[in-house]
Amino acid sequence: MTMKYLLAVLLTFQNGIHLLAVPATKSEVNWNLIQRNGWGARPAKESEANFKGSAPFLILHHSYVPSAAYTNQDCIAAMQYIQNLHMDTNGWSDIGYSFAICGDSNVYVGRGYNVIGSHAPNYNSRSIGLLLIGDYVAQLPTQTMLAVTHDFIDYSVKTGNLQEDYILYGHRQVRGTECPGAALYAEIQTWPNWQEVEQHNHVTTNAIQGKATKLSLVLTITTIVLLLPQRFT
Ligand SMILES: [Zn+2]
Repeated sequence: MTMKYLLAVLLTFQNGIHLLAVPATKSEVNWNLIQRNGWGARPAKESEANFKGSAPFLILHHSYVPSAAYTNQDCIAAMQYIQNLHMDTNGWSDIGYSFAICGDSNVYVGRGYNVIGSHAPNYNSRSIGLLLIGDYVAQLPTQTMLAVTHDFIDYSVKTGNLQEDYILYGHRQVRGTECPGAALYAEIQTWPNWQEVEQHNHVTTNAIQGKATKLSLVLTITTIVLLLPQRFT
């Protein structure tokens, strides 16, 4: 086997993996935006502050509980369950997420666009908090739910609610949690806008360490040079 042939096989293999990771296209999926009155949402206890402009971040979550819902009726029940949990147990003014995608292929409005959420500390005022209803520790959402997710993200960019060069994080990247579940987290790492959260900080830290090493070397040499004449006087 020549090196060229080996390289061709490797490239084909890599391309094959890449093709598998490409999301389903828009034309394959239909979804509706279910407004708050469509799922019987309670009014927020107090109106949340807004933020302006397109959100630079998209933070993805799973619900864990409820584990999954596939009918319209079960999805409505799941939304109400989560809202009650957030308002009554957590004491928040409303459901914490901006939107939720459910197994009935619909997108449910939580707090909506440009409303400060309660889902990811430090990112609540500059992100869309997107929940995928279900437990995705060991299994992925259905292909339809994933297709709706990609489509809804595109829709958010096209309507100017999400920056074109938005950064996608799984909830666990910004806080100590297993959310959005190991299986879903592995999946989103193949999506084009997903990023490693520490990357920038690592570069900065390395640059600072590099400068510090150089500085201490200069100081050591300077000290030796300064001390040398004194020893011989
Ligand atoms: Zn989460």
